[in-house]
Amino acid sequence: MTISSKQRPLQPRQPVRPPAADAAASASPQAKTALAWLHGARFLTTASQLDQLPLGELPEIAFVGRSNAGKSTAINTLAQRKRLAFASRTPGRTQHINLFEVGPKDKANALLTDLPGYGYAAVERAAKLRWQEVMSDYLQLRRNLHGVVLMVDSRLGFTDLDRRLLDLLAPRLANGEVRLLALLTKSDKLNKSQCQLALASAQTVLAEVSTDNADIAVTAFSALSRQGLADVAEVLYGWVPHGLPTPPAVGLETA
Ligand code: GDP
Repeated sequence: MTISSKQRPLQPRQPVRPPAADAAASASPQAKTALAWLHGARFLTTASQLDQLPLGELPEIAFVGRSNAGKSTAINTLAQRKRLAFASRTPGRTQHINLFEVGPKDKANALLTDLPGYGYAAVERAAKLRWQEVMSDYLQLRRNLHGVVLMVDSRLGFTDLDRRLLDLLAPRLANGEVRLLALLTKSDKLNKSQCQLALASAQTVLAEVSTDNADIAVTAFSALSRQGLADVAEVLYGWVPHGLPTPPAVGLETA
């Protein structure tokens, strides 16, 4: 489902609940390429503050969301790996940013950034404030931030904290510098009409930060039924330049 002219349409699909292995097998060639790219994700480093993040030009795709929104599960599902990302509810570990490389082993072409989940009640106030600062600095200042995947529980919709995050990002979304894909997670818990309502209400929220130059989309996503998996993989793949294939050697033409 799309809300901006720039974004290629994401058709909301009904949860068909195929067996896990079939989801990738039945995907289009483009989706297979995108899923294989994500499957190649490998851990790069962890950072507890912004100055520990790697310097460089690689485009970064950040995964953000309220604690328990299904972020770790979504990352693992997209990468088709069991424990690439894992939810950390330990207060001391809530503010770590984990980075993964994707692309050819010797020449990564993007970084996936797993930002700490926000809104977890058991986190002490000082830690929450520090997190807010790290998060807002990251979203506003990280130069190579290319796209944001925002996980929102499809049953809750956008909470105040999610809206604050959108506000922080708004200037960079407005000029197209940063792309946004909102995933309405755990969509297997909704029936068809509930899912449509959730998508419509998300679109209303996202329309507030959308402009002609913005690249903003929303789709239903379920790690359980794999709804949205192939579409999301394709969108993320499309956000990143993949370089041109090496041209075949040109031989001398003979008359
Ligand atoms: P995080 O805190 O955002 O990383 O959330 P998790 O990925 O740990 O997920 C939170 C809870 O939601 C866990 O109990 C997951 O099993 C559950 N969950 C995540 N994704 C889905 C999904 O697609 N469908 C259902 N039914 N449950 C999910």
